[in-house]
Amino acid sequence: MTKKYLALLVLATGLLSGSQYARAADPTHADQPVVPPVEAMSRLQEGNRRYTSGNQQHPHESSEERTYMATNSYENLGMTAAEAAKRRAELTKSQHPFAIVLGCADSRVPPEIAFDQGLGDLFVVREAGNVIDDHILGSIEYAVDHLAVRLIVVLGHQRCGAVKAAKETIAAKTEAPAHIQSLVTEIQPAVEATVHGDLETTVKANVKDVVQALRSSTPVLKAKVDSGELRVLGAYYSLDSGAVSFLDEK
Ligand SMILES: [Zn+2]
Repeated sequence: MTKKYLALLVLATGLLSGSQYARAADPTHADQPVVPPVEAMSRLQEGNRRYTSGNQQHPHESSEERTYMATNSYENLGMTAAEAAKRRAELTKSQHPFAIVLGCADSRVPPEIAFDQGLGDLFVVREAGNVIDDHILGSIEYAVDHLAVRLIVVLGHQRCGAVKAAKETIAAKTEAPAHIQSLVTEIQPAVEATVHGDLETTVKANVKDVVQALRSSTPVLKAKVDSGELRVLGAYYSLDSGAVSFLDEK
């Protein structure tokens, strides 16, 4: 049996028994631990304090941790379909990120480092200017629905190149080259709302726009935000100090 065929079997098994996995991932199910938003936020703040003070713990990054995750991974395919399905269930149980971070693709702002977290701790999605599209939303919905994550942090940062480019492009009444224009279009409302503000004001406005878009995203996120199960917060990373500050709730 080829590896490709095995991979298809694993996929088919997962699709056919999707409801089983959905049940296992139900936040009310005993097997799925849920970290409340307040605790998740405090873990992030503690991790960022360790990072800025140079006292990082680098949690969950040991070779033992990697080996454990590797043996539960989808890539481990030398097994029967039933065994593979069992492994999938184990993997579902073994991944328990406590927060989702939507950050910028900027190489200077990796969430795991800024919050001193390790493998399996954070569910991270990144796009320049921390904007959202359907792929990002789908990823976030997966983490909320199937991994029972209860906190989303939208992390903007100081001197964000994407936001700077958007400001400059719009001010010049021109268009950015190729697909970069799609980022400009996403950031445009924040740029227009802060025409007289500096770059950092626009960065924070853009974070707040994305927070609002996530909170009102139907059908998954809005329902959970409205019921109080899920919190979406904006945050700002200082390149100068490494400190993350959470933005005022609005
Ligand atoms: Zn950026």
